[in-house]
Formats: sequence, C-alpha cells, structure tokens
Amino acid sequence: MGVNTRTPLIAGNWKMNLDHLQAVAFVQKLHWTLKEAKHEDDSVEVAVFPPFTDLRSVQTLIDADKIPFALGAQDVSAHDSGAYTGEISGSFLSQLDARYVIIGHSERREYHSETDEIVNAKVKAALKHGLTPVICVGETADDLERFGASAVPAEQLKGALAGVSASADIVVAYEPVWAIGSGQAATPQQAQDVCAVLRGVLASALNDDAAARTRILYGGSVKAANIAGFMREPDVDGALVGGASLVVDEFASIIRFQKHVGV
Ligand code: PEP
Repeated sequence: MGVNTRTPLIAGNWKMNLDHLQAVAFVQKLHWTLKEAKHEDDSVEVAVFPPFTDLRSVQTLIDADKIPFALGAQDVSAHDSGAYTGEISGSFLSQLDARYVIIGHSERREYHSETDEIVNAKVKAALKHGLTPVICVGETADDLERFGASAVPAEQLKGALAGVSASADIVVAYEPVWAIGSGQAATPQQAQDVCAVLRGVLASALNDDAAARTRILYGGSVKAANIAGFMREPDVDGALVGGASLVVDEFASIIRFQKHVGV
C-alpha cells in the first residue's frame, strides 16, 4: 500500500465517566503533564471523547488555552433534527468544533441494539455534518470461536461503508469485544492480522487511496505497558483507549508511545 504517511491517533473514550468539572480538570492536567514531559505535539494526534454534557466546557478550554487536542463525541443521531427525544444531531456537534464521533461502539451495539444499518446511517449523518466517524468493529469471544477473528469485523465494516464516498474522511477502530475492559488485550500480531484485513475491506469498499490514507486503530485493554507493541505493527495507526484514558499519567504515557516504542 506504499509509504505510510498516516499520523498516529491516540483517542480516549471516556464513556460515562467524568462530569464537566472533572473533564476540565482532567484536560488541563493532561496538557500540563505532556508539556512537562516536553512532548512533541505534532508527532501524534490526541483526541478526547467526553460525555455530551462535557463537550461545551472542554471545547471552551481547548479553544481558550490553545490545547492541541481534538474533540470527539461518543455517538450521533442518524437524523438531522426533529422529534427524536434524547438524540444529538451531528450539526450540534460540529457547531461545538467536534472533529470526531465514535459510531458503532460494541456497547452501543449490545445495549442499544445498534445494527450495521443503523451504524451506516450514523456514519452518513456524521459525514454530512463534517464530522469524521470513528467506526468501531470487532468480534465477540463467541464470534472468534465460530468464525475466526476477522470475519465479523470485516462484515461490520462493509456494512458501515455502504454508499459512503471514497473521498470520505473516516477512522476505523478494531476493537475485539472480548478485549474491551477485560485486561486481556489482543496480541500485536492478532491486531495486525485483523487490521490488514480491514485495510483490504477499505480498498474494495472505497479504493486503494482510501485504504492507504485511512487510520485504523486498535482498541481493547490498551495501556502504557502494551501500546508500543501495537504501534510497531504496520497496519495499526493508533489506539482507541477506554479505561486507561481516564488516568492522566497512564494516558500521557500512551500518547508518548514514541518514547518507548523502540523502533
Ligand atoms: C473501549 O471501550 O473502546 C475500550 C477500548 O475500552 P478499554 O480500553 O477499557 O478496554
């Protein structure tokens, strides 16, 4: 697929943690910790995905203090506006300068019955409103046993990309469900194998250029102690981090993986 010019992306999915006051304190402390460590901001893109109620406060802070973090939301409505109680439009998110939105996280698929069709509609809604979808795919332990590692994530990605333009800016996150929050991460080789298959899906569903430029993240029990192994793999372009993104020093160390990647 040619030379890899993809900027690594380290994304923190806070899930339903940190209220708006805690979010502001966390972002300030993370920024300060990276500054103290003389972290080079251009070497890796950092994104945080707070709960909806935190977005305005975090956006204001990032703006005022010129903090080089991108802002993302954890979900988006498939609809633009109207009688959809409790939903959030992509237009509201882009007005808050959100750059990314997580779509199809396994917790949404499991607890909110999100199908590949719903995921596809949300991906299109995000793109329509200028947001970059972070499309989550991954197999359960049962899927792994029955179909192997890549069959289900590859099908999910195909479904998510139906009718999406090859020029669309997207991010893919490969998150084996059995690795999320379990402390049992995939091995770097397992992650690489599935990410390579997903890059092939990008090539066939979109085109070669989209496959070469689209970042594919690994997610599932990523920590400071294992990030380097994933980042050495050619098709892993970053990480979607849950639990470890809630601990300033741990998340800062993941962001600084280039200091311990040993390549
Ligand atoms: C996630 O939920 O996206 C995730 C990867 O969680 P954790 O890092 O806690 O496994």
